[in-house]
Amino acid sequence: QLNQGADERREETHPLTWRLNDDGRPVFHKEYVEKDGYAAVRQALNELTGAQVIDAMKTANVRGRGGAGFSAGVKWGLTLQGEGMPRGYIVCNADEMEPGTFKDRLLMEQIPHLLIEGMILAAYANNARYGYIFLRGEYIEAARSITRALDEAREAGWLGADIAGSGFDFDIALHTGAGRYICGEETALINSLEGKRANPRAKPPFPGQSGAWGKPTAVNNVETLCNAPAVIRHGAEWYQALSGDLSDDGGTKLYGVSGRVKRTGLWELPIGTPGTELLDRAGGIRDGQQLKAWLPGGGSTGFLLPEHLELALDFDTIGQAGSRMGTGLLTVVTDQQSIVSLMRNLEAFFSRESCGWCTPCREGLPWTVKLLQALERGEGERGDIEMLDQLAIGLGPGRTFCAHAPGAAMPLSSALHYFRHEFEQGVRHETGPAHADPIPVGE
Ligand code: NAD
Repeated sequence: QLNQGADERREETHPLTWRLNDDGRPVFHKEYVEKDGYAAVRQALNELTGAQVIDAMKTANVRGRGGAGFSAGVKWGLTLQGEGMPRGYIVCNADEMEPGTFKDRLLMEQIPHLLIEGMILAAYANNARYGYIFLRGEYIEAARSITRALDEAREAGWLGADIAGSGFDFDIALHTGAGRYICGEETALINSLEGKRANPRAKPPFPGQSGAWGKPTAVNNVETLCNAPAVIRHGAEWYQALSGDLSDDGGTKLYGVSGRVKRTGLWELPIGTPGTELLDRAGGIRDGQQLKAWLPGGGSTGFLLPEHLELALDFDTIGQAGSRMGTGLLTVVTDQQSIVSLMRNLEAFFSRESCGWCTPCREGLPWTVKLLQALERGEGERGDIEMLDQLAIGLGPGRTFCAHAPGAAMPLSSALHYFRHEFEQGVRHETGPAHADPIPVGE
């Protein structure tokens, strides 16, 4: 849930959440329009060209909130490159399945028209006529809210032909997935949307160049799209300045905290807010426990230490600290939790969710789980930790077909780096058969 009441949320400071009701009642069309809803669409369609919308997103420095932080404006510009480029698609990646991540669910359940408005702006900028919301199958409430909101938007003339009398046509279909993590990888998502098996495609070409049905396709995360209406309504400079001195990234971020804190949940704060502030808002660590480590934004980010909490939670700063911000939802780990068990749990998830297409991922992840299980039971063999080191390299960036295995390798290599002693405790000390030397993985 959102842990900020209406008394704290203002239109000038909380562009994503200021319209939410404190009682959790979703904001549907009537209320959304009363609260300035769809004003950005009217403004863009009447006063701006698509290129100006893209420029505004670039100036505002909206970076992708799915986790990678790629510039939304640059991504939108891609689909328009090339003479006679056929019209493509807008796809909203709503397959939110990153461990510890639940921010897009709130937006979709409680303020679905904000997403629709953002998609209309994206479609206008990208000259697209059709959009898809690829929604995680388990998000039943979100599906209900979006379905109702799409009907309302069509009824009110925000979707369909000649939107707001502008001559621009656009419509959106909701597509629910079947609960596979790999469908959140944008090219696997596109394959799934096309009715194919959800294996990732090679990149390049990026979807902006060749995506759904071979057409230029902008794939954006829910939260990213939800930022667009405020950028247009209040201006790119205003939006960029929301983060003040905290970050060069623009706007606010729907941050969250889970794990052993007193109050889990979500907060909309300027992007670049340090982790200390978030932990304070979460009421601190539960009594009798000490913070040991934290993941800055989902299971596919690297562990950071308590001293890193002082850092600005933005894409570049957290990247420089050796992790990545990812989805910006902190997972807190205390001294009463075993890093080896946590890693076993995470890697079991990544292993189960591998599509099995490329060998390092298909074979490497189950192997990793097996070694972690042994270490967890205190039955690890000599060489197991070195083997995990090798696996973390072999699963890492540039060695697999998509970002799935590198995502799984990131927490593993940081756990081995910071908490090696915990792994060592899992190695059986009596003489037993040792593994052969780790297989060299190359440069
Ligand atoms: P990526 O860096 O490869 O790409 C990010 C986006 O930028 C993509 O849309 C890609 O098409 C675009 N892009 C990148 N380089 C480009 C270029 N040169 N030209 C044009 N477009 C370009 O990252 P990714 O593999 O898409 O995503 C990895 C991230 O996803 C991780 O940070 C992870 O935290 C996050 N993630 C999120 C969830 C979730 O549920 N929200 C789930 C899994 C992973």
